[in-house]
Formats: sequence, structure tokens, C-alpha cells
Amino acid sequence: MELETSSAFRDRPVNIDESGQQKWIYAKQPKGKWYTRRTIVAWFAIAFLVLAPFLKINGNPLMLFDIANRRFSIFGQIIWAQDSYLLALIMVIIVVFVVLFTVIYGRLWCGWVCPQTIFLEMVFRRIEYLFEGNYRNGRHHKVVTPRITLLRIAKHITFLITSILIANVFLNWFIGPERLLEIITAPIRENWLGFTFMLGISLFYYWIYAFFREQVCTMICPYGRMQGVLLDSRSIAVIYDFKRGEPRGPKSTGDCINCHQCIAVCPTGIDIKDGSQLECINCTACIDECNIVMKRINKPENLIRFDSFQGIESGKRSILNGRTYAYSAVLVVLLIVLSVMVMNRKPIEATILRVPGTIFQQVDSANYSNLFLVKIINKTQSDKNLQIKLITPKSGKLQLTTGQTTLKSQEKLESVLILSLNKQALTGKSTPVELGIFEGETLLEVYSTNFLGPLN
Ligand code: SF4
Ligand code: SF4
Repeated sequence: MELETSSAFRDRPVNIDESGQQKWIYAKQPKGKWYTRRTIVAWFAIAFLVLAPFLKINGNPLMLFDIANRRFSIFGQIIWAQDSYLLALIMVIIVVFVVLFTVIYGRLWCGWVCPQTIFLEMVFRRIEYLFEGNYRNGRHHKVVTPRITLLRIAKHITFLITSILIANVFLNWFIGPERLLEIITAPIRENWLGFTFMLGISLFYYWIYAFFREQVCTMICPYGRMQGVLLDSRSIAVIYDFKRGEPRGPKSTGDCINCHQCIAVCPTGIDIKDGSQLECINCTACIDECNIVMKRINKPENLIRFDSFQGIESGKRSILNGRTYAYSAVLVVLLIVLSVMVMNRKPIEATILRVPGTIFQQVDSANYSNLFLVKIINKTQSDKNLQIKLITPKSGKLQLTTGQTTLKSQEKLESVLILSLNKQALTGKSTPVELGIFEGETLLEVYSTNFLGPLN
């Protein structure tokens, strides 16, 4: 069916004018069942973002990406940098999941759970409506009175305070509540680096939400750019039923009266009647708005709805296709591999390396010693009393400089190990040595290295 469209929207994003300048979008506040559902989802998502680093499972944060200590807590499971293969696998699974999900449900993520949309549409846009009123039909205050100026200043102050709060929520995911509290409460001169970082992030968020806004979705987000290759005619998306709506116009036979309300409410300023576009974040605001119009003119709802292009064409919904099955199979295999790897993770991760720049020391006329750096991580949920014992050669003396042998759950021990061997035990300049990490009589890990001695 031939759509009644202008092709101008293909030349440039609607929020950019001919000279490349940003065109401000004054989106009207949506009203309806989809907006209510989205609000509920958004508040759950915000609660998760705020609370996840505070909530604990087995004493570990629900979510914490402690990059400085190379320790990640994902749903209470600690993953160390040494488990990088697991992190890589998790990343692959996320990418496959996103691809699969997008093939089936389009950009549901963007409109419903992406933090950028949630904060812009559910927090900052609402603050804006509070100070500037609802932008009915995309209108805004063209005559700026002193009262409006004051309201706008108040709006920006509120934006700034909200940005600081969001920056703290973001930092909490990376440094944890204890360190965050330290940065907040310590005098600035004692913590100027942390404070500067937090201020920088706050100002960045303020710029994004007060000025750059929906351009993150329409121009920068790589996920949005991938839609062209991920979506096909069977993908579910917010879509205009052109079969029912065309020909459009107040006096035409189609159900669309061309009232432009779906455009007025769109946070990216597009016209969904032009078909699926990269700028559509599937927020469903146009569905709600069009349903209000349909009700008013006594026509059935859902002229704009969640459907696929093929579904509109054929009148039948179909979300399963060859790609869906293939991606699902890959996802299931990856999940099984991940579960097996997590279950078979070594309970103890140890590295024993020679202290850089050292060779051997002569203890007395019969004994030599070597220095090693020992790092042991207890990855289990219980405390461990560990011993390092010499397996080969049979005799020798081991001493940990920290003296510590008990490691709490998820604790990391770093110490220098002094290994002394009698010269009778040496087989040459470099003697193979095996060290065992034991819990009681149970051998948990064997580590092989070399003991350096004199030439003869
Ligand atoms: S809101 Fe509905 S009726 Fe109005 S222009 Fe959009 S699609 Fe047509
Ligand atoms: S076209 Fe509709 S679903 Fe897409 S961004 Fe605009 S209002 Fe949201």
C-alpha cells in the first residue's frame, strides 16, 4: 500500500535542522495504560539501580563492578579478574542475548529499561513538566516573562541536583557504598581526586539530560545504529497500521485523521506513520496518544500498536523464524557452558611468582633461599585455613612473611614466601620445585616453579 509520507525524514534526524543545529523537542507528556506500565517498570529499574550495590547475597553486594580491585560481584557471585574467561563469556552471552531479543522484540530495551530513557523520560522530563507545564501539541512558552525565567532557573537547579544524585548512583556501582560515603563525607582537600571525578560525572549527566537529551539515542548509542541489520519484517516494534489508517486525513476513509498527536508526544520527534525508523525507541507514547484520539472519534484502539510489519500486512502475528531458533540454540549452549564453568571454578586461585630482580640468597654454608610473591584468593563462601607445603623436593623450609594462613570468604592474601633448601637438594642452577596449597590434608592446588641456586 502506498503511504502518504514525505521523505524529508530520511535526509536528517528530525531533531537536527538544515544547518546541523539541534532542534529542541517539546514532547507532550503521554497519558494512558502504556505510560502507566512504563512508569511502574521505570521505578522498579530505578530502585534496582539505587539499591543493587547495597543489597547483599552471602555477604557480597548484589551488583558491584569494583574495577580498582579487579573484583566483580554479579548477583552475589564474586568474579575476580583471574576469572577473565568467565567475564568474556558473560559478555558474549549478553551480546547474543541482545541480538536475539532485538530480532524478536525490537527496541523494547530502549523504551523500557535503558537507564538513559528512564532518567530522561521518567525523571528529567517530569521535572520539566513540573516547572514549565505540559508541552501541549509541542507548544512551549515563546514569550519569556520574568516568572518563566525564574521557573527555568529553578528547573536547571533541580536538574543539577538530580544529576549529582545520579552520578552518585553510578559511582556506587563501581566503588561501593563504603568508598562512596568516604568521598562524600571526607573534606575535599583529603579526597580531591574522588571529589573531582564525582563532580565531572555530575556535570556530564547535567549536560546530557539538560541539553543533549534524546540525541544520545538518535545519534550516539551504538545499539540504535545496529537496528538496521537486526530488525526484519517479522520483528515486533511499535508500528502504525497503515492498512487501517490510510488514506489519512480528517475526511478520508482511513482511520488516521492526521491529527499529529502521535508526533507531539514522541520524545524523539519522529512521525511513526513514516514507518520504522532508527530514532524510534519503542517507548509506546504514540500508542497511548493515538488510542485517546481513536476513543474520541469512536474508532477501535491500536491503530498504532506493538506488531510486526509482516503482521500488519498479513493480519497475523508471527515472531518465530529461523534466526530466532538459531540464536536461541546458541544462547542455550552458552548458558550451559557458563553454568558448568561457574560450578567447576577452582575454590582457590593462587599465583606464586619470583620476586622481580631476585635470584638466590645464601642463608648459611649449607642453605640457600629464594623469594616468591604469593597471591591466594579464597573464592568460596566459607573461611579457609590454608597451608603452603613443599611437595618436591621432600625437605626444605617455607615461611610466609605475613604469617597469615586463614582466609575469609572472597578474601585475597598477598605475601612474600621465603623458600630455603639445603644445597644437597639442589640439582643445578635451577631446581624444579612443586608447592602445594592444602586445606588440612586436602591438596587444593599444585604450583610448579624453579628454585635458583649457585652454579655448583
Ligand atoms: S495520533 Fe493516530 S490519528 Fe492522529 S495522526 Fe497519529 S496515527 Fe493518525
Ligand atoms: S514513534 Fe512512538 S514509540 Fe517510537 S519513539 Fe516516538 S513515541 Fe516512542
